[in-house]
Formats: sequence, C-alpha cells, structure tokens
Amino acid sequence: MQFHLNGYRTGDPSISERYRVDSDPREADVLIVGCGPAGLTLAAQLSAFPQITTRIVDLKSGPLKIGQADGIACRSMEMFAAFGFADKVAKEGYQVNEVAFWRPKGTSAIVRADRIQDVQDDLSEMPHMILNQARVHDFLLDVMHTSPRRLVPDYEHRLTALTRTDDLDYPVVATFDDASTIRARYVVGCDGARSTVRRELGLELKGEAARQLWGVMDVLPITDFPDIRLKCAIQSADAGSMLIIPREGGYMVRMYIELDELHGDERARDRQVTPDSLVEQARSILHPFELEVKEVSWWSAYEIGQRVCDVFDDDSADPRIFITGDACHTHSPKAGQGMNVSMADAFNLGWKLAAVCGGMADPILLRSYSTERQAKAKELIDFDRDMARLFSDKATTASEADEFQRYFQKHGRYTAGVETHYDSSVITVADSRQDLATGLSVGMRFHSAPVVRVADAKPQHLGHMLTADGRWRLIAFAPDRDSGQPGGPIAELCNFLRTNPASPVQRYTPAGHDIDSVIDVRVVFQQHHRELAIETMPSLLLPAKGQFRLTDYEKIFSPSTTSGLDIFDQRGIDRSNGALVVIRPDQYIAAVFAVDDYPSISAFFAGFMTLPQSS
Ligand code: FAD
Repeated sequence: MQFHLNGYRTGDPSISERYRVDSDPREADVLIVGCGPAGLTLAAQLSAFPQITTRIVDLKSGPLKIGQADGIACRSMEMFAAFGFADKVAKEGYQVNEVAFWRPKGTSAIVRADRIQDVQDDLSEMPHMILNQARVHDFLLDVMHTSPRRLVPDYEHRLTALTRTDDLDYPVVATFDDASTIRARYVVGCDGARSTVRRELGLELKGEAARQLWGVMDVLPITDFPDIRLKCAIQSADAGSMLIIPREGGYMVRMYIELDELHGDERARDRQVTPDSLVEQARSILHPFELEVKEVSWWSAYEIGQRVCDVFDDDSADPRIFITGDACHTHSPKAGQGMNVSMADAFNLGWKLAAVCGGMADPILLRSYSTERQAKAKELIDFDRDMARLFSDKATTASEADEFQRYFQKHGRYTAGVETHYDSSVITVADSRQDLATGLSVGMRFHSAPVVRVADAKPQHLGHMLTADGRWRLIAFAPDRDSGQPGGPIAELCNFLRTNPASPVQRYTPAGHDIDSVIDVRVVFQQHHRELAIETMPSLLLPAKGQFRLTDYEKIFSPSTTSGLDIFDQRGIDRSNGALVVIRPDQYIAAVFAVDDYPSISAFFAGFMTLPQSS
C-alpha cells in the first residue's frame, strides 16, 4: 500500500482524504438501485472516483444483518484483494479445504464415499471462503465510507418508476415512493430477483417454469456426524439431499435442504416450512447419526428458478440503464454462485462506467457489459441445472452416485470463478500473441504468481498490485538477456511509452496527472533481484509523482524462486522474447503483444479510449 505521496498524513492510511464538492442531491452520474452484493460492489468501485457523483438507494431501513448467501469463491477473494479487504474475510471466515461426499447405505443409513481437496493447487492464490453475506456487505460499505466522497447508501428509498427523457446531461429520471426524483446519467438496477428496474426496461427472466424450494438454516448443532466441520454433499436413500456448509466462528453450520418444486403462482409460504420441519428432515437425512439443534440463528424457505434475461441493459446503441446480479439471472444456491456472480457483474460494469463518466472512454465500452456478462450468466444457468439435477437424482447404482462427485470435481475451476472467459471484442483482442504467455489466457482473469519487488526485496503476489482503481496495467515480461539496460527491448518499450506521441500513455494521460494515472506500466525481469541495477532502469519504471515529484519504486519485479518454479515457468512466458500483457481494470487480460509491437499497443487503446479534454 502506498501513501504519503503528497505529504505526511497521520492516522489510518486506508481512510482517503476527503474530497468536498457541492453537488445537487437530485442529480447523479450513476444511480445504483439496491444495496445487495451487486449494488455495494458497484458503489465501492465507483467510490474510488471522487469526480463521479454516485448515489445508492435501497428500500430497506438499513444494512443486511443476517442470512442469505455465504459462499465466497476464490475469484471473489481476488476481487476483495483489489478492494483491500480479502485479509479480513480470510481472518473471519471458514476456509473450505476439503469436501466430503456421503451416499446411501441400504435404505436408511448414509456412508462417506469420498473426501477430496476443494480447490486445486495453483488455481488461485486465494482460498475458497464461507462468510455471512452481511459481513461482505459491511466490508464493501467500509470501502465506500472511507472513500474520498464518503459514500453512504440512502435507505428507505423505494424506486417505483424510471423514465427516459431527451435531456442530454441526465437522460434518466428515477421516481421513488415518496414522489421524489433523481435525474441520472446512468441507472443500474442491482435490485434483486423482483427487480423494478428490470420491469421498467420491459425485460423478463426467462427459463424453467418450475422453481425449486430450498430450506436453509444456520444452526448451532451437537452431533456425532463426523464431517460436521467439512463441506458435505449428502444424498440419502429416501429422506432427500442436503448440503452442509460449516460457518465462520467454529461452531455454526449451514444446512441446505432441497424441498419440492413450486409450480404456477405457488409461493414458498404455501408449503408451511418451519424451522422444526427443517430440523426434522435434516435428522432423517443424517440417520443413523444423531443431530440435536441448540439454536436456529437464521432460516429461510427460499425459492429459486434457473432464469436469465436476454440482455442486461436497455439494448440501445448508447445504453443508459443496466441490470446486474439477481435482477438478471437467478439460480440455485447449490453451486454457491449467487453472491459471487452478482459481484462479478458489478466489477465488470464499474470501471466501464467510471471511464465513460470520467470522459476517458467512448460510451461504446458500455455495450460490452451486457455482451460479456449475459453470456457468462447463460453458462452458469446451464451448469446449475446439471448440478441441481445430479444432486437431486436418487442414485440407484454406485456409478450414478459417483456422477455428482465427478461433476463437482470436474467443475471445480468453474465454481471457483476462474473459468470466466470473455469473447473477442473492442477490449479483448482475439489475434493476440497468446504463444508468448500460454498460461495467461486472453479473455480470462490475470492469474497471479509470486514475485519479488526489486527496490526493497519484498516478496509479493504480482496480481495484488492490480487494485480496484480503474487503471489499465501493462505488464512487460522481459526477454532473458534484458536487465533494463539502455537500448534493450524493455528500455525501448519504456521509451516509446513515455515519449512517443502514438503511445497510449502519452495520448490518454491528462496534462498534470501522474504518468501512471491511466495506464500503469510494470516490468518483471528474469534475473534475481540482486542482479538488477535500479539506478540504470528506464525512467518510466521510476516515475516522479505527486506534488513533490517523489519517486515511485514499486514498478520493477523479479521472479520469486522459493517454490522452485518461477513466474515465467508458471505462466508459460516465452523466455527468449518476453511478452507484454495488457490487463483491464477488472483484472481480465485484454491482449498479449510482443514487447516491441508498438503499433498493436497503440491501436488497441485507440479502439475505445478518448483523448483528455485538455489536449
Ligand atoms: P440482492 O441481494 O437481492 O439485493 C437487492 C437489493 O435491492 C435488496 O437490498 C433490496 O432491498 C433492494 N431493492 C429491491 N427492490 C428495490 C426497489 N424498488 N427500490 C430500492 N431498493 C430495492 N444465495 C445462496 O447462495 N444461499 C442462500 O442461502 C441464499 N439465501 C437467500 C435468501 C433470501 C431471502 C434471498 C433474497 C436471497 C438468498 N440467496 C442465497 C441469494 C443471494 O443472496 C443472491 O444471489 C445475492 O444476494 C444477489 O445479490 P444482488 O445484489 O443481485 O441482489
């Protein structure tokens, strides 16, 4: 973490200096409707941009306190690291390391079939965590509260209508239940499965007519079931199926019990589910093990259908209204995706809205949100349907019983959230030089690996410098004999980026701003960090920044060799030619170029960036 750039400041450095601005509360660049994980992720991202006026509203009277989702995929933890609170989640949550599979033994008993590793090695540097959704909300609210604008939600504001107008500045008018209005440049519906924004757009969630009813309860149990502190998928012969998710704190356990399908207008409340009926069913599924429930701290009968909207915006050339999360896709809790995918939608959209509102990118960029995320949601629905069917099917043979476990294992990468792949677009270059970095796939998230920061010999994960600040990153992996010497490929690349009028760094950095404020260039050399001479490095890698023109020493890295394999081997980087990896502000890889392919680098950014107003 870097601070004191513009002078020494006392106190907690994670609390940003306050940015005071007079703005009309009836106007917003971005109006976010809903304080669930999607809305709060979007608000946390936009709060990093003090020049952008963001409002976030919710019909509830205050923050969520208990219940709803609890699974946090590795990919979400990577995103939390970008927001600076992954360590808090890791400290407080339950870490999922292994999963046990139980299946029927005879007609009224269950037996452990297998116990497997939950997250494959080197899938992510981040663990799979379980933590109450309300705590995730708290951490996102903290990011907002400590941001320069001290963003806080406006509770007890129920959106009732949205109107498009011809106004050039604020073309969307949002009306609330107290008849107040907010005029907005952009409106994002993060308002859940019964979304008003979706209704106002005339969009429908399409999919299965039937909805599955789930009973879910957080309990404090006493039991002789041996795997109560492991994530378990339990299929009984006649009593149904159950997922056990151990929870934070060491004692609490969540139990998901699959109930019946709902049809037509039938609602969860029509089935008269009670905590007692759920406990009774859990006991039957676990038989012959005993279960005594000392407290049910939260429970819900939660209905869900596998459905998705055709588009996630107002489907216009210049989209102004978007929907995210449960507002545009719903699925079962079985694969633990609801909160994760909702936050991923918002992370995809946030930097794009910031870039367009900040005048740095053409509004064409915003069209990629619906294209990228709708395709991802459709995939998720298909996955969820198969997973749900296999879990619910009553296995009559051992091979049928194995099928769910095989499916679960095969799709571990998917449930960890690291399989998302965006297709070719203005921000994802299909004809990249993928051969130069075979383990850093274009269209997928940057897969981190350990490195050593050269200036202070600090071991760290390279991906952890990809913070949620809206900046693009160019990471150059140096060819083998290059140590940054004058005339070498890295020095020439830096020279081009720093001085050439065609360089995107030159073109898109506003006058008077730090040279890395829009595009942040970092280099990983192949040599041991003590073999590199910081004093002869190109000046772009030691930029002078802030009001005192202080030197930023955190741009240059060497591989870490502690695990045996270094980042060049781990991520398949071409050692003789090196590679230039272009990374989006949401940590997805946009392109891989040769380190001397300057025309491609320029052409890529010219496809969607706009010149700063002053030039
Ligand atoms: P939500 O979290 O639904 O947030 C939407 C927000 O919008 C809410 O705060 C709501 O008050 C607000 N809102 C709605 N309409 C308006 C309006 N007109 N004006 C202003 N504000 C509005 N997932 C699991 O994996 N496991 C579970 O056990 C589980 N249990 C759940 C139980 C319940 C009761 C619910 C509702 C969801 C549950 N989920 C569960 C799903 C999971 O919580 C969601 O997938 C996730 O919260 C989706 O995030 P979101 O931000 O898209 O929407």
